[in-house]
Amino acid sequence: MKIGFIGIGAMGQPMLANLVKKGHSVVAYDLAEAALVGAVRVGAARTGSAAAAARDSELVITVLPSSSHVESAYLAAGGVLEGLAAGRLCIDMSTIDPSVSRRVAEAVVRRGARFIDAPVSGGVPRAVDGTLAIMVGGDARDFEEAHPVLSAMGANIIHVGPVGSGEVAKLCNNLIAGVAAVAVSEAFRIAEGFGVDPKVLTDVISKSSGNTWVMEHMHPVPGLVGKAPSSRDYAPGFTTDLMAKDLGLAVNAARELRVPVVVAPAAQQALRLASSHGLGRKDFSSVYMFLRASSREAPV
Ligand code: NAD
Repeated sequence: MKIGFIGIGAMGQPMLANLVKKGHSVVAYDLAEAALVGAVRVGAARTGSAAAAARDSELVITVLPSSSHVESAYLAAGGVLEGLAAGRLCIDMSTIDPSVSRRVAEAVVRRGARFIDAPVSGGVPRAVDGTLAIMVGGDARDFEEAHPVLSAMGANIIHVGPVGSGEVAKLCNNLIAGVAAVAVSEAFRIAEGFGVDPKVLTDVISKSSGNTWVMEHMHPVPGLVGKAPSSRDYAPGFTTDLMAKDLGLAVNAARELRVPVVVAPAAQQALRLASSHGLGRKDFSSVYMFLRASSREAPV
């Protein structure tokens, strides 16, 4: 298939590379010259605008940082909409506000084309392996049509519901993972203060009600889980900044829906503070490094 691919960053590049490996012909566009050079290196052709990428292809894929980038890549001058022929399918794989997905989808549909949201989970290593989890919002027929292309990039591909639902599933998952990272970090800092061996505590929790995927796979304390980012100086994984962004999207969605959220905003602020203290590009489990005890002399 001829695919226009827009946004060739940390995730986009390995995803694009897997499409090329599966025999698709990819024309790439990114604002950054270095990203375009990377795309050509893994076998794509390059082009000069999102509109041109859309014009020259049967299918458009976008993997962009956040809502405003997606709006601009689709709707601004030189954007996807300008080049999109009627009937074409657009797949946005960025993590963004579900209401922005719906707005962009409406604009695409007004153009006579189709749009699904398909955010991903699994980070760069699974983007490289082609084993991302992909949660899809959109029409069932569009999902079926996209499935072969999505399966070049992912292993677990789930149709969640109408447009925007993929983003909702992604935000809900990351709300839980982000909160869990802060909770596990707080627990292990308390245990450390009491001199409890973190390895023994891990054994206890892993067989108790506090066990979480985050502790099993992304343990914030270095040296306890070999493959965890904490054992590699918190190399991501999934960065603190991206997790703070996703928690922010969840909090915004809750506000629009008038759903009370108590722990998600607190976790988001802990991650923001970790970021402003230099941990933004580290894995989000590095929030543990930020949550250190104050000096013994501090009044309580
Ligand atoms: P990134 O910042 O590495 O890459 C984004 C790319 O988009 C950059 O190359 C940038 O130049 C380009 N870009 C921005 N605006 C553009 C525009 N208008 N037109 C063309 N190109 C434009 O980001 P990433 O880490 O690849 O993340 C992409 C998306 O995937 C985000 O929404 C993120 O939340 C999500 N995600 C990331 C990870 C991860 O581990 N990095 C995991 C799951 C989901």
